[in-house]
Order: sequence, then C-alpha cells, then structure tokens
Amino acid sequence: MLWNLERPGDVGAIHQAYRTGGSDLITTNSFGGTRFALERHGLAQRVAELNRAAAQVARAAAGDHGWVLGDVGPFGDFLEPLGDTTAEDLRAAFRDQIAALIEGGADAILVETMSDPAEAIVGIEAAKSCAANVPVIVTYAFQKTAPGQFRTMMGTDAAEAVRRATAAGADIVGTNCGTSLSLDDYLELARQLVQAAGKVPVIVQPNAGSPRIENGQAIYDATPEQMAQTASNLLAADVRIIGGCCGTAPAHLAAMSRAVKSSY
Ligand SMILES: [Zn+2]
Repeated sequence: MLWNLERPGDVGAIHQAYRTGGSDLITTNSFGGTRFALERHGLAQRVAELNRAAAQVARAAAGDHGWVLGDVGPFGDFLEPLGDTTAEDLRAAFRDQIAALIEGGADAILVETMSDPAEAIVGIEAAKSCAANVPVIVTYAFQKTAPGQFRTMMGTDAAEAVRRATAAGADIVGTNCGTSLSLDDYLELARQLVQAAGKVPVIVQPNAGSPRIENGQAIYDATPEQMAQTASNLLAADVRIIGGCCGTAPAHLAAMSRAVKSSY
C-alpha cells in the first residue's frame, strides 16, 4: 500500500504493462487497504490517503478508455460470532476505504477473494452507501471439495454465494484466486456461476493454474497460451468479464485479451 505514495512510478508501470497488453480494466493496488489490515503495519491512520493514492495511480495508467476497479480484499479476520468484529465496524472500515478509492478515481468497486458471503454483503452495503450508482463486483475464492463441487473456505457453494451477493445488490458476481483449481476446474466453476447468476453478468479471474510449492514459494506454471485457451473457453461459457489473479503476468493477460477480442 505504501508504494502507491512512495513509489507511484513503479506501481503505475505495472498497471501500464497490463493496459498495454490489452486489459480494459485494471485493479488498484489496495488489497490490504482497510483499517484492519493497515493496523498491522502501523498505517491505520492513513486509510484515506493510501487508498486515494492507489486509485489515482491506476487512474493515470488506465487513461481515458480504461476502467479502474477499486480493490477491496478481505479484512483478514472473522465476523461475529466466529470472530470479534461486528458487521457495523467492518462496514465503517470498508466505507472509509471505498470512499477514498472513489475519490481517487475508481469507476467500480471490486470486493474480491471473499470466503464469507456475510463479509461480501457488508462490502456491497458499504460501497452502495458511499455512492449509490457505483457498480459493485463481488468475487469469491473457491476450492474443490469433490469432483465438480466447489466451496469457499466458509463452506458456501457457488449457487449460494451468487444468490446472497446478488440479493444484496452486487452488479456483477464471480470468482478469483481459487485454491488449487486446475484451468478445467475454473471452467466447470464458471458454468455453475453463470447458471446461478441468471441475468447478472459473471466475472472469472483464474490463477495461472494450480500452483506447486518450491522453497516455500507458490509457482504458477500455466503458459500464456494455456490461459488464452481458458479465456476463450470462459467466454464461450458466457462469462462476461475475464481477468487473471495469482501468477498471471502481463504476457498472460495480453494473450487472453487477444483470444477474447479476436472472437468478436
Ligand atoms: Zn490470487
């Protein structure tokens, strides 16, 4: 988060690399941008300043024709009754972050890597209370629990996750950052999300395949070509917004962008 202020050139260059490769939407560098997450780094007092800077850096890279998604990640703990945090406290924290992202130029809010629909709903409510007309995108992180079955860490399946987010006003729903999902798994999960979402557009941002661990680091092996094929498959499955999460470098997104845009 500090880099948005202290090294905006470096953050902007990363955004620009994705934009140049053909990404129409870029995501702000603000995943850990709530008071709860910033507190762990002694930065809790700087929520507004850091999130505004994150949006401004992305806004500059996006240009006139690109969209900036203001990124909101999980707050890093459990809501009551599992944890100590009340929905009211979390809503206030999300509001502070989201208001600054919008002020800095975010076009939409991306509530991502969600495991608990209750947390996603608090994020939706916070965004809508900041600006009633701001589009809100919710994406959940799923893992495979049986062949063809996917659940979040909190045990929520795809249909239930979609139902609760859309009932709370999410404009777009989907998934990012699955835990150890193959590219085929993402496709199967996408079909379930599309079916559950009905008329609500679906977004899928897969990792670059299922990682292997080497020296304590997650290594993602999917090639740009494989990701491009996945992007084509997702598009054919009626996914409307396609991106990438962990392990997807600019080369992956460029190949995915070419594959999607060559089909229309
Ligand atoms: Zn990820």
